[in-house]
Amino acid sequence: METKLDLEPISLPGVELTRPIVIAGPCSAETEEQVINTAVELAAKGIKIFRAGIWKPRTRPGAFEGVGSEGLPWLQRVKKETGMFTSTEVATAHHVHEAIKYGIDILWIGARTTANPFAVQEIADALRGTNIPVLVKNPVNPDLDLWIGAFERLNRAGIKKLGAIHRGFSTYEKTKYRNHPMWQIPIELHRRIPNLPIITDPSHITGNCDLIQETSQEAMDLNFEGLIIESHECPARAWSDAKQQVTPAHLKMIMDSIVLRDHAIDDKPRQTLDELRSEIDKLDKLLLETLAKRMKVSEAIGTYKFEHGITILQEGRYDEVLNSRRDQAVKQGLNPDFVVKVYEDIHEESVATQNIIMKTLSKK
Ligand code: PEP
Ligand code: MN
Repeated sequence: METKLDLEPISLPGVELTRPIVIAGPCSAETEEQVINTAVELAAKGIKIFRAGIWKPRTRPGAFEGVGSEGLPWLQRVKKETGMFTSTEVATAHHVHEAIKYGIDILWIGARTTANPFAVQEIADALRGTNIPVLVKNPVNPDLDLWIGAFERLNRAGIKKLGAIHRGFSTYEKTKYRNHPMWQIPIELHRRIPNLPIITDPSHITGNCDLIQETSQEAMDLNFEGLIIESHECPARAWSDAKQQVTPAHLKMIMDSIVLRDHAIDDKPRQTLDELRSEIDKLDKLLLETLAKRMKVSEAIGTYKFEHGITILQEGRYDEVLNSRRDQAVKQGLNPDFVVKVYEDIHEESVATQNIIMKTLSKK
C-alpha cells in the first residue's frame, strides 16, 4: 500500500536541528535530584534535547513503573535551568494532556504502545489540534506496516512533525542484542517515506553500554538522522535499564568518536563506483542463475521423495546442510550467521516447493 504522509520537519524554537539530532537522558526520571544532576551534566556536554521516562511500561508488574505526573515539574526545571528541550513517552490520552500541560517539547510513543492500534488512535485523538513533534518507536514485533499505521493515525489527526525511533525488535533467539536491529526494516521505512527522519536508539537495541558506540556508528553510516541514547548520572544505580545507560562523560566520548560520512556521491569520482556496481550486477546474475538451478534440483528431489514414499523433511539432512555451509562460510571469510540465515530461507523455499510437488502428484 502506498504511504503518503503530510510531513513538516521537526523544528524547535530557536534551534536548527542538524544531523545527528541527539536526544539523551535517563531511561526514567527517578528523583528530582537525579533528573537535574543528569540534565546539568548533559547540557554541559552540548546536548540540546533531554529525555526521561515519566510513565514506564514494564514487562512484569511490580517493577518501577515511573514516578508519573510528579516528575513533570522536574522536566520543567530542566528546561528552565539548562535551556534544553524536553521529551517523554506517552501511552494514554491522560499522559498526553499532562505532558502538554507541563510544556514537554517532544513526545514519543513506546514500542509496546505502537504495537496497539487502539492505544495509538487514543493518543492521536488526544493530540488533535496541537503541533507538537511526535516520535514513534518501532513496534516490538518486526512489522513495518504496524509502524507505518501509527504514523498514518497521527498524521490523520493533524500531527505533521513526525519522526521514527528505531529501537530494534524482539526475537525468540538470543543474540548479542537486547532487541535485534533488523536494519533492513528502517531502511525500508526510509525507502517508503523518504522525508520521515529516523532516529536510532542504540540503548534499547543493544541493552549494553559497551555496544552503544558501534551501533551509533552503524546508524550514522546508514545515513539515519539521529540518536536517542540513555544517559544517567550513575548508571549502576539506575532504577530501570541500568546495564545500557552511559554517564554523560561516556556519552560525550561516544559522540566525539562518531565519524559522519558523506552521503552525497555526486561530487565523488564516479568511474570506480560505476565499475564496482556493474561487477555486483554480474555477480548477482550468477547468484540468481545458480539459485534457479538449485531449485530445479530440489524439485527433482521432491518427485523422487513422492515416488518412494519419503517425507519431505529429513532433519538429519537439514542439520548437515546448515553445518557444512556454516563451515564453508568460515573458510571463505563470510559471516557464518549470515550464511546460515540465507540457507534457512533457501531451505524453507525448497520445502514449500516440494510440498507443492507432493500435492500435485498425489492428485494425479
Ligand atoms: C524507553 O525509551 O525507555 C522505552 C521504554 O523504550 P521502548 O519503548 O523502546 O522499550
Ligand atoms: Mn529504557
